[in-house]
Amino acid sequence: MADAANTPTPESCIASHSDEEYDKKCIFCKILKGEMGTELLHSDETVSCFQDIHPGAPHHYLVVPSKHVGNCKSLSKEHVPLVEKMLETGKEILEKNNVTDLSDVRFGFHWPPFCSVTHLHLHVLAPVSQMGFMSRLIYRLNSYWFVTADQLLQRLNSMG
Ligand SMILES: [Zn+2]
Ligand SMILES: [Zn+2]
Repeated sequence: MADAANTPTPESCIASHSDEEYDKKCIFCKILKGEMGTELLHSDETVSCFQDIHPGAPHHYLVVPSKHVGNCKSLSKEHVPLVEKMLETGKEILEKNNVTDLSDVRFGFHWPPFCSVTHLHLHVLAPVSQMGFMSRLIYRLNSYWFVTADQLLQRLNSMG
């Protein structure tokens, strides 16, 4: 693997989410308000789900808090139930879309600053075995820019 594979630029994540500047207004809040014409696959008081605009796998969903919550670096132990609910919802969406092999699914978060969208969002990608080279890089396990949902929960639970 070339050096480039170990040091992706923040742009790789930005490109995966948008083609424009979204640092001024939160794009996900706009989506949740129905301002972007994006179809919500799930929406309740706590969490909502929609498809990623730039899918990195045949199934690529984003599960987000329905109310604006900052990125995973800003979370604390009190957010554990929220993150668990996001994960649970991601699994339900996969089931609804006939993805049953949960061993071939990736659930995770981009670690700041490797993301342009500050609204907390869980990436749900399946099947992992069909992800292309760039997607494997952007959503790479054990990298410093992507953490799995389990790793984030472990981190939050270990907080005082
Ligand atoms: Zn937001
Ligand atoms: Zn992301």
